[in-house]
Amino acid sequence: MSDIVCLLPGDGIGPEVTTAAREVIDASGADIEWVVLPAGATALEFCGSILPARTIAAIEGHGVALKGPISTPVGKGHASVNVQLRKKLNLFAAVRPVRTVDGIKTRFDNVDLIIIRENTEGLYSGIENEIVEGVVQSLKIATSKACRRIARFAFEYAVARGRKKVTVFHKANILKMSDGLFLKCVRKEYEQFADRIAYDELIIDNGCMQLVRDPSKFDVLLLENLYGDIISDLAAGLVGGLGVVPGANMGRTCAVFEAVHGSAPDIARKGIANPLACIMSGVMMLNYMGKTEQAKRIRNAYDSVLSAGRPEDLTPDIGGNGTTQSFTQAIIKAMK
Ligand code: ATP
Repeated sequence: MSDIVCLLPGDGIGPEVTTAAREVIDASGADIEWVVLPAGATALEFCGSILPARTIAAIEGHGVALKGPISTPVGKGHASVNVQLRKKLNLFAAVRPVRTVDGIKTRFDNVDLIIIRENTEGLYSGIENEIVEGVVQSLKIATSKACRRIARFAFEYAVARGRKKVTVFHKANILKMSDGLFLKCVRKEYEQFADRIAYDELIIDNGCMQLVRDPSKFDVLLLENLYGDIISDLAAGLVGGLGVVPGANMGRTCAVFEAVHGSAPDIARKGIANPLACIMSGVMMLNYMGKTEQAKRIRNAYDSVLSAGRPEDLTPDIGGNGTTQSFTQAIIKAMK
């Protein structure tokens, strides 16, 4: 019997890259039945809701989704769809592996990081108000429950994959209470893992400097919400950009896989979006579902396409002159 996966095409380049990922996953032999669901600006236009209840219910029911980037219309009173989705499904951990990709030349050839981002609170709680005209405030929320939960997740995830060290980036020297609580909780959770993995902490500005100077010093990075968002893009820049970094949003009962990049409206519908990050997110999804053979087949295929480096296969963001379609077809061909 085929496994059911929810597919959220999303906005901007979302439909292009999710179609590519679906074609590649189907060609890998993974037996998947796709349930296509609306979310984002497109859903608002056609269903009257930016995040329809049936989309949430379907992901809750099936437990796994592959999602394209979703944009939230600015200034129309809509809360971020991504934030809502993570909160409603309790997807408290974002996992983003950032690795040097064969055939993509960058300043470093030895990047192998896993970024783990707290997904539910911090400044992204969305609690903002205007105190008086011209003065606004945004609240940064930290709870010991969420801080301990993400810390435990990070240590468990790192240990299960044989990683050597978890590093927290923070600003507890200034944000003594919120980042202070985050650190306190991580240290507490670490007590149970101290015999299996190393742990250290860096003030985030210093951490950024060290990360761009020598990423090989780092292994697993654990960050609160805003820092995780920013550091993910910074790290993507170390390995060739947003087109090559996948991600997963994980909870206890469901997981939503999506690339780190946004909806890239500047290149939407031009047929040149790099589908690789979404395909890689699909590979993470297949591994999560236990379809490791198919995951490996796809990974070998994109590795060989990238190593061959034929410009007509690759999208412009990674130095090619091809299209989303040519890249997708090259990967499918490499699997045969
Ligand atoms: P968000 O706020 O939704 O995360 P963002 O502001 O980080 O979005 P993106 O939509 O991720 O912005 O795009 C940032 C830049 O990277 C844009 O110039 C975009 O064209 C480029 N980009 C993003 N994803 C891809 C991709 N898959 N292929 C090629 N270029 C991409």
